[in-house]
Amino acid sequence: MGASRLGFYDVPNVECRHCGETSLHRVTAFGKYFSLSIVPMFPTGVTMTAECEHCNKTIPQHEFPPALNQQYKPNKARLKRPWWHYAGVAAIAIFWIFGLVSNAIDSLDPRSEMLKNDIAQMRRTPLESDTLATKLSTMYMVATIGDQLDEADFNYLVKVKGDNALMLVSIPTLDDYDEESREQMMEVMEMVADQQFDLLTKNMYYGLRSSNKNLVVKTPTNYIVDDNIANSYLYDFYGAKE
Ligand SMILES: [Zn+2]
Repeated sequence: MGASRLGFYDVPNVECRHCGETSLHRVTAFGKYFSLSIVPMFPTGVTMTAECEHCNKTIPQHEFPPALNQQYKPNKARLKRPWWHYAGVAAIAIFWIFGLVSNAIDSLDPRSEMLKNDIAQMRRTPLESDTLATKLSTMYMVATIGDQLDEADFNYLVKVKGDNALMLVSIPTLDDYDEESREQMMEVMEMVADQQFDLLTKNMYYGLRSSNKNLVVKTPTNYIVDDNIANSYLYDFYGAKE
């Protein structure tokens, strides 16, 4: 909690509860705010004190004679809250709006829809005839972490477009694995691609996903292992932004 001075107003001819004189009282208002650490977040109220011009004694708000409280409303416009009392919520609002805007920009990129469609087409259970898929599942079996994985648990998609190739693998339980295990799984994906003649000369875009998000992404220019990877890292598979 914090407070800072908002301003003051004078009320003439008030009987002082200390010296008994009828004198001018100066009411000073303080704006209280909730703060996190030292950052003001949002206003929480106003507190006031009054000072008798005659005896200079201070009167706390709960001892105000009615005349002082009655003058609060007509003088309220003079008691301005500084903008920084809202600094925390303002910052949050700005980040929130920024997020909305970047989401909007993201959804304007046609490659966003292309990737969503490809993710939606990822299949479950490799077919016998699909040699690449069989390799993928076999590689998972022999990988050190493979024994924890059920072959039927993952979906995958491999797609070639010009000089680029996209390999998506999703494992529903991938959230449960630590970063090192996820990196090992990415290595497995790369090994599979390296063994695939038609992928050898391609620019590879790898996405290793849990059921709903990328957790490891590798592209010709980026390698990211994180719980929150933007889909946009994979967009260049579809070509440069127009
Ligand atoms: Zn007084």
